[in-house]
This record gives sequence, C-alpha cells and structure tokens, in this order.
Amino acid sequence: MSNEKTLNKTFVVTIDGPAASGKSSVSRELAKRLQFAWVSTGAFYRGLALVALKKEIDFDNVQGLEALCHDPDWHIELKTERTCVYFQNQDVTDQINHEDVGSFASRISHHQNVRAALLQKQRDCALGNKGLVAEGRDCGTVVFPEAQVKVYLTADSEFRAQRRALEQGADVRDVEMAQKIRDLQDSSRKAAPLQVPPNSLVIDTTHITLNQVVDQVQAHVSNLLKTL
Ligand code: C5P
Repeated sequence: MSNEKTLNKTFVVTIDGPAASGKSSVSRELAKRLQFAWVSTGAFYRGLALVALKKEIDFDNVQGLEALCHDPDWHIELKTERTCVYFQNQDVTDQINHEDVGSFASRISHHQNVRAALLQKQRDCALGNKGLVAEGRDCGTVVFPEAQVKVYLTADSEFRAQRRALEQGADVRDVEMAQKIRDLQDSSRKAAPLQVPPNSLVIDTTHITLNQVVDQVQAHVSNLLKTL
C-alpha cells in the first residue's frame, strides 16, 4: 500500500464496550498519545436525551426525536478532554453524565430512525483528522466498520458499578442496577446492538490499570502502522 494512500485516509481506532468498562478514559488517553482526535459517541445519545428532557419530548416520540437530531438548538464539539454538548449556546456537558441521562439515552437509542439521524454526524468526526479514536457501542460494527483497529473492552459488572459510583458519589447498588438494565437494553436491541466487532482486540479491564490497557492498545496500533 502506498504511503500516499495511507496518509490520505483517516486512521480510525474504535473502542466499544458496556457501561463503565473504561472506554472513555482509555480512548481519551490513547488519542492523546497518538495525537488523534477523540470522540465519545455516547455524547450524541446523551446530548439528544438531555435536550429531549428539556424540551419534554417523550422517549417513544420517534418523529419528535428524529427531528430533534437536526435541531440547530444543540450541537456537539470535540475537545481533547471531553466531547462537549452545547444547548442554546451553553456548554451543558456536565449535565449529560448523570446515570438518569444515560438511562434515558439508552431508552431512545434503540430507535433505528434516531440512530440513522445521528450516524452521519458521528462519521463526520473523522473528517479533517489524520486519526480518530471513537468510543461507544457500535463504533466498530456500524459507525466505522472499515476502522483499521477495533477494540472491545469489558470488565466485571460489580467492578464497573464501583468505578462509576465512585466517580459520581452515588450508591453502588443503585448504579449497578441501572447499569445492568442499560447493558441489557443496549445488547438486546435490534438496531446496532452492543456486540464484539469481528477481528477486534478484546481486553478485560477488571484487574489491570488504565495505563496497562492503553499500552496494550497502543502496541497493537503501532504494530499495525509498521505494516502499512
Ligand atoms: O457510552 P455512554 O454511557 O455515554 O452511552 C450512553 C448510552 O448511549 C448507551 O447506554 C447507549 O444506549 C447509547 N449509545 C449507543 N451507541 C453508541 C454510544 C452510546 O447506543 N455508539
């Protein structure tokens, strides 16, 4: 393969996995090390959920949600530290991280029309960047099926709940219950369910540090870059 061809194409690394499996921390750190752009695709679903809550659009109102995907009242901006959500020109990113917004996002994300309306916006994140690290549930299967590197992170469910509860100062049992429901919804839905993408590197993050996970993925990317 010629260098020119390689350089012209954005190098995409996808990182998928269930809630609190370490996707955001790992993908953000990896993007920093590789000097790639980074996107948390969950921010699109969380952003839509937050704006729907603000505008009192019900989770079953598919037409309303679909129209809301194209509403100029809100948009996403990629930053090094976080994928930001803006609503009426205010940065509302702090509001999307609550588990209630995550649950609402999961309830609206099973609508195929909603997913289709958000798909191109997620793909556009690769434009103009030499590389992109994209994390979510269907990044390796649907958003970037041609990604050069696909990773799937998993971790013990109790450990994942503890991790999130600590971050949010919430009760670990409440978080575990909410995550179990969310994981079940995300993996059993018909449209783009959470699944291990074919040919992906699968890492269980339960007993290893963030840096060890990033090291493994970075080594995998470097090996691949050597072959291009
Ligand atoms: O990853 P995060 O917890 O921010 O995602 C919130 C919710 O958004 C998920 O539970 C899932 O329902 C939805 N989501 C999705 N596809 C993605 C990313 C997130 O359906 N690529």
